[in-house]
Amino acid sequence: MRRFGLIFLAVAAFAQQKTADIHVLPVQGNIYMLVGAGGNIAASVGPDGILLVDAGTSQMSAKVLSTVLQLVTAVAASPSPNRCTGLHCSDSPYRWSSPSLNALIASPAPPKPIRYIINTGIDPDHTGGNEALSALPADSKILGVTFPPVGVAPTATVIAHENVLGRMSAEINGKPAVASGLWPTDTYRGTSYKLSEFFNGEGVQLFHEPAAHTDGDSMVYFRYSDVIAAGDILSTTSYPVIDLAKGGTIQGALAGLNHILDLAIPEFRSQGGTLVIPGHGRLCDTGDVANYRNMVAIIKDRVEDMVKKGMTLQQVKAAKPTLEYDGLYGATTGPWTTDMFVEAVYKSLSPKH
Ligand SMILES: [Zn+2]
Repeated sequence: MRRFGLIFLAVAAFAQQKTADIHVLPVQGNIYMLVGAGGNIAASVGPDGILLVDAGTSQMSAKVLSTVLQLVTAVAASPSPNRCTGLHCSDSPYRWSSPSLNALIASPAPPKPIRYIINTGIDPDHTGGNEALSALPADSKILGVTFPPVGVAPTATVIAHENVLGRMSAEINGKPAVASGLWPTDTYRGTSYKLSEFFNGEGVQLFHEPAAHTDGDSMVYFRYSDVIAAGDILSTTSYPVIDLAKGGTIQGALAGLNHILDLAIPEFRSQGGTLVIPGHGRLCDTGDVANYRNMVAIIKDRVEDMVKKGMTLQQVKAAKPTLEYDGLYGATTGPWTTDMFVEAVYKSLSPKH
C-alpha cells in the first residue's frame, strides 16, 4: 500500500512537472522575476542581452530558455513605432536622417543571448540549468531567431563564489560531487565582486554571505533598477534553510538578512523602493524582509537562551521556540521541516555538535 502510494506520488509529481509553466513578473527597471523553475530566477533583459541570477532545475531548462528568449525578443528587439519621418518632423532635429527613419528602413537587430548566469548558491534548484542555459548550440533556431547572433560568444559566463566551485568539484569516490558541465566558469573570492562594466545600462554587484544558507551564498544587487536577488538567504515560504554540512549557520543567515536591509531603501514607510527577489516565494520589499529578519532574530535569541541554560535539543524542540510563526513558515513534512530548522539553529548556537 505504502509502495503504491509512493508510485502514485511520483506519477503526480511527474505530471505536475510536465504541465508546470514559467511565470514572468516584471519587477522594476530591467529586471524580471521568473517563477516556477525550482528557485526563483531574476533576469536582466535589454540591449546587451540576458543576465540570469540562478538557472532553475535542469528539468525546466527548455521552458526557462524559451521564456527568456520570448522576453528578450519582446523587450529588446521590438521595432520602435515610427510616428514621423521626413522634412516636417517637428520633434526631430535630424529630419531625413532621423533615427525614426532609420528604424523604418532597417530591420531590428536580433536579440542577444544569455551572456551571464550568476549562481546565488550550490543547490540543484538554482544551478541545475547552468549547462543547458549557458551552452546553446551555435545553430539553434528558436522562435525563428538564430541564437547566438553572429559575433557573440556561444557560451555564457557562469559566475559563483569560489566555495560553490570547491564543493561541486570536490571528489567523492574519485568522481566530482557535481558533473563538470554544471560548474561555474568564473569564481570570485572575498566579500564582493562586480561586473567590470555596465550590463543593460547598470552596475551589477555581488556580495558573498560567508555562512548563511551555505558558505557559498551570493546576493546580487542591480544598482539602477534597484533590485536585489537574495537567493536562499530569503524565502517567503519556509524558515531559512541552514545547511550545516555546507557551512551554513543561523548567525550568518541573520547577518545576510541584515545586509539586505542595509542595502535596501524603502520608498515610504518600509514599502516600495528597493525590491527583493527571494530564493523561493513572492517578491518582497523592505518591510517584508524586516519582518522575516525579526522572526529569525527572535527565534535565534530564544534558542540561544535555551542553549545557555543547558537545555538539550529534545528540550528545545519540546519548548517550541517557533510556535507563533509555524503557521507562516512551518512544515511537518517535505525537505525542510520545522524540526530540522530548530535543530540547525540549536547546533549553530551550541559550542560543539
Ligand atoms: Zn533554493
